Amino acid sequence: MPISLQTLNTLGLTAWADALIGVSNSTELPAISQSLEEKDRFILGGGSNVVLHASQEAPLALTCVQSQLKGIVRLPAREGLSRLRCASGETWHDFVMWTLANGLGGLENLALIPGTVGAAPIQNIGAYGVEVCERIEAVHAWDFERHDHVVFPAESCQFGYRHSLFKELSFQGPWNRPRFFITAVDFVLSPATKSSPVLSYKGLSERLTELGVTEPPMPMQVAHAVISLRKEKLPDPSEVGNVGSFFKNPVVDEELARALASQNPGLPVFQQNNQTKLSAGWLIESAGMKGVQRGQVAVSANHALVLTNLGAATARDVLGLAHEIQEAVMARFGLWLEPEPQIIPPL
Ligand SMILES: Cc1cc2nc3c(=O)[nH]c(=O)nc-3n(C[C@H](O)[C@H](O)[C@H](O)COP(=O)(O)OP(=O)(O)OC[C@H]3O[C@@H](n4cnc5c(N)ncnc54)[C@H](O)[C@@H]3O)c2cc1C
Repeated sequence: MPISLQTLNTLGLTAWADALIGVSNSTELPAISQSLEEKDRFILGGGSNVVLHASQEAPLALTCVQSQLKGIVRLPAREGLSRLRCASGETWHDFVMWTLANGLGGLENLALIPGTVGAAPIQNIGAYGVEVCERIEAVHAWDFERHDHVVFPAESCQFGYRHSLFKELSFQGPWNRPRFFITAVDFVLSPATKSSPVLSYKGLSERLTELGVTEPPMPMQVAHAVISLRKEKLPDPSEVGNVGSFFKNPVVDEELARALASQNPGLPVFQQNNQTKLSAGWLIESAGMKGVQRGQVAVSANHALVLTNLGAATARDVLGLAHEIQEAVMARFGLWLEPEPQIIPPL
């Protein structure tokens, strides 16, 4: 009997899988691992960065494995910094708010990102000038190939812009045999009083001023500013189905960025971690796609990077409009936008 995944993905797509296994204790993993050895599988977190396309007639012939591992543990402090281990099934935003309530700074710019702690390293979530890899010390996982626990120090996770070793394996490797199931993530955070706020992102300092914060802000104040900005710009997935940004900002070489900027006045070009990026949202809007609606799916009129399910969209509708956007941006700027969410099964 196929299992409906409709309420388990934030786009709200009707998708079906053969089975769903919740992992609530890591001691269950050896038995689960053995039972899945010959089976196709997919690891699902909060479903906020996936596009699942499968009908009840043709369900995803695989078992979804979902972390329900819970708990936050303090590790011995080192060089004045706090270290925490958070289980993968914790909700990301709740964990961020827990760190802030416990006087720790470092994750405030990443407040209100949907999803689980276990998925945060997968695409190295980032927002408002901070990427989670800057605060990660190690990632703990179960290795489905070796049937054993494995620890990845942050340096070996190949973190980059919306990228990691784990995302590379699931996008490029056999998508139906993901190798690593993340069980916990170790973070290094500063005491809130010694934390240096990252306010480089346009609009964040202004929002703090509007909120009446005049002194150098405390991490909790930054989080409140980020939350208010995000609520203004992004549709709440519990009300309108979406996966946040549907496309990554294109990373280009500096020469191409300069050429495009001179031909297209106003094109935002920004540098982060020695990379030159262009604003995908600006490219989509300039290609005339902001607000465009096709059947039950639309490009948000507020944020050109967000595709929304107007109620009864199918994965085919979503992927059709995504393709139309890619074509429009290619025709106008010669750039092919890469989707950010994982498409299951891949096209
Ligand atoms: C409104 C909105 C705003 C968003 N804003 C941002 C943003 O600002 N920045 C940003 O980076 N992202 C953003 N996202 C995308 C998304 O929230 C993140 O990518 C998030 O980390 C996905 O978490 P999830 O638990 O929902 O993962 P899922 O969508 O369930 O899975 C995503 C990927 O992670 C894998 N995965 C999940 N859990 C595990 C695990 N335990 N072990 C191994 N693999 C696993 C899945 O197989 C899949 O490949 C946004 C999404 C929405 C809906």
